[in-house]
Amino acid sequence: MTTSRLRIEALTVGYNHGAVVRGLDITVDPGEVVALLGANGAGKTTTLRTISGLLSARSGSITLDGKDLARLSASGRARAGIAHVPEGRGNFFGLSVAEHLRLRARGERPNVDLVYQYFPRLAGFANRPAGLLSGGEQQMLAIGRALARRPKLLLVDELSLGLAPLVVAELLPVIRQYADESGCGVVLVEQHVQLALATADRAYVLSHGEIVLHDRGERLRHDRDLLMSSYFGEG
Ligand code: ATP
Repeated sequence: MTTSRLRIEALTVGYNHGAVVRGLDITVDPGEVVALLGANGAGKTTTLRTISGLLSARSGSITLDGKDLARLSASGRARAGIAHVPEGRGNFFGLSVAEHLRLRARGERPNVDLVYQYFPRLAGFANRPAGLLSGGEQQMLAIGRALARRPKLLLVDELSLGLAPLVVAELLPVIRQYADESGCGVVLVEQHVQLALATADRAYVLSHGEIVLHDRGERLRHDRDLLMSSYFGEG
């Protein structure tokens, strides 16, 4: 029963006012890509930040490979194998690509060659400051920094922000390939619904902090009406 890489049960999270995520149940199996969809403000970012330990849950549980994460800080969770690529990417303007990839955030030795294998373009820009990269390349770097630590669970928040759909369509298959090859589970928060569903095995749609729809990516991709009605909280 507990074979899921990530298992979230009855998760409730809030800020000062009421709860913004309520009673969430989500699983991600090893090698699975799961999309978290929903309109602005639905609670997607809050969910990712709670998984990675940047926010505390009010109630519910989160386990990674059967291990309860409740008492682990954000850095403890990073050591346990959770990598979070935040919205906005978090790169440093003046630091080169290679310097970013070599950053030893938690004493681990990053696998820089692995990153260049998945993103050959970055290898050609190894000495270029991140600030001079295109938006798509900066996003490659942000994902690459996460992959360099060989995560068990990758959380990606709005990878497509400010990027052309063509660039997004180039990045998502790399994440899919990494999940397939490494067994890493992936939670993908994405506004490009069709691209996300083409990549994801399954998707959850959140509305006002609750899951209103959960199905296989393929099925949702071909049932636009069902998806749209849940997306906008109707029906
Ligand atoms: P978006 O696509 O706009 O990022 P989202 O689905 O990721 O949306 P969240 O960012 O998780 O949604 O926000 C969920 C709710 O929590 C929103 O109503 C938002 O206004 C509120 N919220 C988010 N961050 C904070 C905060 N730091 N303090 C108070 N309320 C917050």
